[in-house]
Amino acid sequence: MRFKGIAASDGVAMGKVYLFEKTELIINQESIQANQVDAEIKSVTEAIEAYKLDLENRVVTSDAEAGVRDAHIELVTDPALLEMVTGKISNDLNNAELALDSAINEMAIVFEMMDDEYLSERAADYRDIGENIMYKLKNVQPKTLSTLDDDYIIVAEELTPTDTSTMDKDHVLGLAMNLGGKTSHSSIIAQTLGIPAVVGMNDITSKVKSGDFIILDALEGVIITDPDEDTVKEYQEKFETIKADKELAEKYKFQEAKTKDGKALEVVSNIGGISDLKDAIEEGAEGVGLFRTEFLYMDSNDFPSEEKQFAVYKEAAELLGEKPLIIRTLDIGGDKGLDYFEFPKEENPFLGWRALRVQFDRTDILRTQLRAILRASAFGNVKILLPMIISVNEIKTVLAHLEEYKEELRKEGIEFDEDIEVGIMVETPASVFVADELIKYADFFSIGTNDLTQYILAVDRGNDKISHLYDYFNPAVLRAIKQVIDASHRHDKWTGMCGSMSSDTMATYILLGLGLDEFSVVGSKVGQVKAIINNSNLAEAEKFAEEILAMDDVSQIRKTLKDHNDNFVTE
Ligand code: PEP
Ligand code: MG
Repeated sequence: MRFKGIAASDGVAMGKVYLFEKTELIINQESIQANQVDAEIKSVTEAIEAYKLDLENRVVTSDAEAGVRDAHIELVTDPALLEMVTGKISNDLNNAELALDSAINEMAIVFEMMDDEYLSERAADYRDIGENIMYKLKNVQPKTLSTLDDDYIIVAEELTPTDTSTMDKDHVLGLAMNLGGKTSHSSIIAQTLGIPAVVGMNDITSKVKSGDFIILDALEGVIITDPDEDTVKEYQEKFETIKADKELAEKYKFQEAKTKDGKALEVVSNIGGISDLKDAIEEGAEGVGLFRTEFLYMDSNDFPSEEKQFAVYKEAAELLGEKPLIIRTLDIGGDKGLDYFEFPKEENPFLGWRALRVQFDRTDILRTQLRAILRASAFGNVKILLPMIISVNEIKTVLAHLEEYKEELRKEGIEFDEDIEVGIMVETPASVFVADELIKYADFFSIGTNDLTQYILAVDRGNDKISHLYDYFNPAVLRAIKQVIDASHRHDKWTGMCGSMSSDTMATYILLGLGLDEFSVVGSKVGQVKAIINNSNLAEAEKFAEEILAMDDVSQIRKTLKDHNDNFVTE
């Protein structure tokens, strides 16, 4: 049987179930007499103190666990909590257990009501500390996962951050929960520990028992009970591939990317904000090839001010030091809206008022962002990337505006990088055809295969019905990529790629052969892409690319790439 949930931490696991049932807490809800108030307050204060001590002594092995521990120390030492509990004891004459239980409930509910998924998940942290203080108050030793006698997939109603922080990680193969969200602290801990996890499984605890053999596929977000032999075999293979890929990524992630015959490449990352950037640096990214600034706008209630944007770009630039930070100007429209900005109803939004087309009509938005980027350029190696370009006119217009804003900053005595580089995203067929002209006005290209594929093939990137036609290995797309790279090289410039194709390890070798100079990938793929580059010979990859470019059938191309990948040897 297959059960569907939400993938919360990537990976695949196979093994025995450990059904974790929590120690039941029966709360003794009583009213007290006025003369018992002091004693009740004393007992709850001691319980909080005792739990705080446990937290302080907890051994942690990752930043995420330390983060949870520190956050929980903050919650238990928050005077507001003790105040609320003692108020309920002395004013409402609740006994300590009832006072603690209702105070925690009230606090958790405030968070649960919040629209923001991350904040609403914090309610679980309140309930978690409440539960632990209650154990102390009742003098009960709770069941934990801190010693396991074998390797298990833990299945539970819900695991608190305390459960995941204190579990015997060496024996945990995977986690599955009835409840929980992707951004709960338990999920975050699973992600940092690299333990596959699925959450939101509804009633998986009633479908399995301890000792059952199951498969947990946290790539698809499913649990398979009673798997047949073929499924087990299929997953064994998947498991081996994932393991090998991970080991390879670990080995290569901090190495320089260079082919065996000496071409140095840049493997950088796509980010949506500072926390992605921190993850990417840990994965070995040598910079940022695409900062999608839309998220900064989506997370605000109004267009973010110059100061707000400057602070984020500056922090990113400083975190990267000399490494490049390529910031893309706002690309709203298409499928990306903003709560506070009304878009006209369009027949074809992907062919509509999008990206710079919006900003040319609203130069105030362009000005705020470009000024913020310029100011941040004084603090690192910042470059600008322009999306959805279709003509030389557009790039000339942006450059003229940029010059205007530079002049403003000079007059204001604000520092910026006078030679800040400007790149063009090649993601429209028009930009491919006029690549030779465009590159004269830009310092580099970055190919956006997500849009380029949809526009070249006339296949909506979000339409499931025709998703089989959406394929960047289509010869038309491959030939376009080749034309763009060649055009940049003819002008002694470089071409990177920030669309999803660059994160697909099936594509790495052919892209190398087509002459790509920079791969901007999702953080987790940095090591794998470097591994392929470092074990490849450029001259051979170029020959391979020529053969592929001569093919006219996408299935033949895919088969050839797969055969090559299957036989690719990495040291
Ligand atoms: C692309 O189109 O390939 C790209 C990187 O931009 P986005 O996915 O943000 O449109
Ligand atoms: Mg795009």
